[in-house]
Amino acid sequence: MDVVNRYITINNHVNGAPQDSDFELKASPLALSLDPASNVVIVKNLYVSIDPYQLNRMKSFSASQKTSDFAVAIVPGEAIDTYGVGKVVASTNPEFDKGDIVVGLLNWGEFTVIKAGGMLNKLNTMGFPLSYHVGILGFSGLTAYAGLFEICKPKKGEKVFVSAALGSVGNLVGQFAKLSGCYVVGCAGSKEKVALLKEKLGFDDAFNYREETDLNSTLKSYFPNGIDIYFDNVGGEMQEVAVSNMNINGRIAVCGVISEYLDSEKRAAPSMIEVIYKRIKIQGFLAGDYLNIFGDFLSTTCDHLRTGKIQPLEDISDGVESIPSAFISLYRGQNIGKKIVKIAEE
Ligand code: NAP
Repeated sequence: MDVVNRYITINNHVNGAPQDSDFELKASPLALSLDPASNVVIVKNLYVSIDPYQLNRMKSFSASQKTSDFAVAIVPGEAIDTYGVGKVVASTNPEFDKGDIVVGLLNWGEFTVIKAGGMLNKLNTMGFPLSYHVGILGFSGLTAYAGLFEICKPKKGEKVFVSAALGSVGNLVGQFAKLSGCYVVGCAGSKEKVALLKEKLGFDDAFNYREETDLNSTLKSYFPNGIDIYFDNVGGEMQEVAVSNMNINGRIAVCGVISEYLDSEKRAAPSMIEVIYKRIKIQGFLAGDYLNIFGDFLSTTCDHLRTGKIQPLEDISDGVESIPSAFISLYRGQNIGKKIVKIAEE
């Protein structure tokens, strides 16, 4: 049997803010009858992840592109891989059967053909919705958990600042830090987001960075006794002022620098004198380097979900055709929590 596989591709390299015109919905026939010797799995995609880092893969050049298999440049016209959850519809790989629910590297499209060696695992949903395994129980969750606990090592009573705090990673960093007994302040790009951080997610305080004219004074007012941990999702000026407000022996996890993805002129130039004399640790990291703690992360987060100590925050669009607008929304600050596209019903 043949199906039509619709998928999203880019028309050209994307070197500025992503626009609808950068993307195209393509369709091609896909045979579900496989050669028994092919060792292939065909997955019907159900939920796919929408992440800011894809923009760096879409550029004609980014320093990220040669650093990791996940970061390689996207070729215009070709399918775009992403983390996601799906259902096996055909398999000649002995490890997978038709009907298996799987998680791994799928495509921004309706089906993914995965050859032997591709990143794919059977998924034990543990009773949670499939979408959770793309976000809070997937790489976004692992990013928050690894960055906070492995790099920043929070201690009870410490003061934590999180940027892009209502985003996929940021909201979990804040919630994990609260559970560790820290004082947590987040910044986000609208009044509505600030209200959600304080009222729904239990942040101690939050502010709308777009309304502030002097970010250094803003941080001083929210952290009169300084910041112990800064979880950086945005880079740029926010990173500079965070460094200026760090305490001695402060830790900064540089998770992402989204403000620089669109404009490299915004590159942060934090005061290295402060970094030295305050003995601040600044560490970049990739979630993929922490697969060794995935089991620990998963059991801890599942427990918190079951006991209601952590709130999942998802922002789900419907249908393959909504992928471009879902992606663009990240760069316009329009997402509330983890941005996911639901491609199909199970
Ligand atoms: P997200 O926060 O859910 O979405 C992006 C958010 O960034 C937007 O909602 C927007 O929120 C904010 N933003 C957009 N443009 C901005 C700008 N110019 N300046 C400041 N904020 C801006 O995305 P996410 O998936 O959680 O990712 C957050 C960061 O972590 C990104 O930098 C991403 O690349 C990085 N990341 C790193 C890893 C890793 O392994 N190191 C893994 C996942 C993600 P506002 O309304 O608040 O502006």
